[in-house]
Amino acid sequence: MKPKFLDTTLRDGEQTPGIVLKPEDKVEIAKAIDEVGVDFMEIGSAIASEGEREAIKKICDEKKKGNLNARLLSFARIKKEDITYALNCGVDGVFLVAPTSDIHIKDKLNTTREKVTDSITECVEFCKNNGLIVDLCCEDGTRTGIDFLKEILNLAVELKVERLTVADTIGIATQEKISEIFGALNPIAKSKILLGVHCHDDFGLATANTVTAIKNGADVADVTVNGLGERAGNAPLEEVAAALKFLYNYDVNIDFKKILGLSKHIEKITGIGIARNKAIVGENAFTHGAGIHVDGILKNPATYEAINPEIFNAERKFVLGKLMGKKTLENVLNEMNIKANGEQFTEIFKKLQFIADKGTRLTNFDVRQVANTMLNLSEKREIILKGITAFSGYVTQPMASVTLLVNGEEKRAISIGNGPVDAAINAIQNICKDIPFEFLDYHVDAISGGSSAGVQVEIKLRSKGKTISARGVGTDIVLASVEAFLNGLNLILESKI
Ligand SMILES: [Zn+2]
Repeated sequence: MKPKFLDTTLRDGEQTPGIVLKPEDKVEIAKAIDEVGVDFMEIGSAIASEGEREAIKKICDEKKKGNLNARLLSFARIKKEDITYALNCGVDGVFLVAPTSDIHIKDKLNTTREKVTDSITECVEFCKNNGLIVDLCCEDGTRTGIDFLKEILNLAVELKVERLTVADTIGIATQEKISEIFGALNPIAKSKILLGVHCHDDFGLATANTVTAIKNGADVADVTVNGLGERAGNAPLEEVAAALKFLYNYDVNIDFKKILGLSKHIEKITGIGIARNKAIVGENAFTHGAGIHVDGILKNPATYEAINPEIFNAERKFVLGKLMGKKTLENVLNEMNIKANGEQFTEIFKKLQFIADKGTRLTNFDVRQVANTMLNLSEKREIILKGITAFSGYVTQPMASVTLLVNGEEKRAISIGNGPVDAAINAIQNICKDIPFEFLDYHVDAISGGSSAGVQVEIKLRSKGKTISARGVGTDIVLASVEAFLNGLNLILESKI
């Protein structure tokens, strides 16, 4: 059985506190998610607002133009009004949500099971008469008695519903509970209707529960990119797909090479940052700190690596710091084209450990500086800052003018940006267009308190598949940022990365 995926980043994911998406954002996200190969997308709730309907219509238009493959669904309650709004947006179907637990039926809706089943029948018939596919979702399904779930499933089969989804709406299901539910539903559903599972991560079990449901007969996994969603979020697409494929050997139709790019894209548009230690897509997912691990990995990556990062187009990284072993430093020096004999290497290693022990996060730039001192190398900076003016203000576009000496030749660029730092970096990027690199990370720390505090800026750049880090320090955040950025660019040039 090939598990299918329903992505609900654009509905449940958008319910993440702090996310507000414009219709254009939603269209862009829909296209990016579609590209990784999901089968269905819940793209919003048509009843919610005018803007939401505009977004849903635009996404449906893209499908009509042949730019999307997934089947498109709108969330709808068991109300004809909700379904009518969805229908008018041009979706393929509805994610029809019916509360099935006693607490939801009595305390939320003040109604009865009979009335809920009557509404389901009426709404499904309305959908069918209008050519909509129906994914009937048992809201709070994991707190619903198995007998009532079976009754709803039998009704769904009778009404020729395409899919019945059981939602763990408040994220309290255990794997035992999920096995019990799907073990009971699967014999009824077999070949008559697809079963779906929709899990939330309140106890950190969303991925495990989703995988367990698939193992027990569910056909469709509801997921979101980066696990976005209400409260603690939904089951993450990247985790569920990877676990099914690489731990359980399911044939999964997801393009794993595109997962990381999708994740970063969604992070940028939604503004919801991914935790560094997040599985698969976190910054540290393939980063190794301890020297003993690095030593093992350099001999055979399988010693300390759960999965080959290349599967996700990700990069294996080793961290510089007090825990690094000699192998890590050896590797970094090699990457930076720095040659040291045994004695020099030991001196460089000791000096870097001394700096790291004082609580400094080491960057490639520190390695280069220490190596230059220890090896008596003269620093040849190809790019030197000659002058900079940057300004920002209220109701004015932040702008920066930067003059650089590039191999002795004076070059100048003026650029705008989101702020003065962004404008200055943009101007430098304009001048240094010929250096192949990608901006990965920008991080600022205030070193002391108050508005006159010194700042430390750390940046990460990637060039030709290698990541390099550099730092800039000062009391002016624009100058510190420019210093960090130029240190990074010089490192790329100097190391011939
Ligand atoms: Zn949900």
